[in-house]
Amino acid sequence: MDQTTWRAVDDYLTGWLVPEDAALRRALAANIQAGLPPHDVAPNQGKLLHIFARMVRARRILEIGTLGGYSTIWLARALPENGELVTLECAKNHAAIARQNLERAAPAARVTLRVGPALDTLATLDVNDPFDLIFIDADKANNPAYLGWSLTLSHPGTVIIADNVIRDGSILDHASRDERVTGIRHFFSALSANPGLTSTAIQTVGSKGWDGFSISLVN
Ligand code: SAM
Repeated sequence: MDQTTWRAVDDYLTGWLVPEDAALRRALAANIQAGLPPHDVAPNQGKLLHIFARMVRARRILEIGTLGGYSTIWLARALPENGELVTLECAKNHAAIARQNLERAAPAARVTLRVGPALDTLATLDVNDPFDLIFIDADKANNPAYLGWSLTLSHPGTVIIADNVIRDGSILDHASRDERVTGIRHFFSALSANPGLTSTAIQTVGSKGWDGFSISLVN
């Protein structure tokens, strides 16, 4: 099996199950046109996030790592009328594109985009107003710190999802000095050591290559 086949299977699956609407397609096109890196989740992954959010009836969602807002749109559309989504992004140009995309694709949703290093913006969030679902998808070196903040900003039943935790299998390299790899390795260590979490992780292949995500339930 190779990337061509994985992509073809993803196309087949999304062809049946993930009919993208014009606004979502336009968001991806706007991201490419603005020169944003193609690090958005795949359409079938976006829909998976959407389903997870609906499964836990999320009313408040936190996303760390907005890029152009593609995953944000999927998550925002899972919210009820009184729902809220806070998304954190450090790059001003990414945030500007995300705002445009969100206005077009999820105009009714209450989305707050906070610009700045997530470790700074996380510290300004109200710990008395926890989130029901948290999606970690920013700089992987800080994943252990993002997990710490996620625990502070959660309640029993909160679901914490982290993307890109397999990285072509590079997480097996215990000698790696790549901060993205060491960040994920420390992240798994922290998940494993935390009795307050029920966690697992899944490898995935598809249009975005070989990667995966972790999912944890706050006990
Ligand atoms: N969740 C997005 C999606 O699926 O459409 C993709 C997010 S992309 C993988 C990661 C984003 O995190 C980038 O836009 C990057 O600028 C942002 N980022 C990286 N380091 C950050 C930090 N320290 N604080 C906030 N955002 C950060």
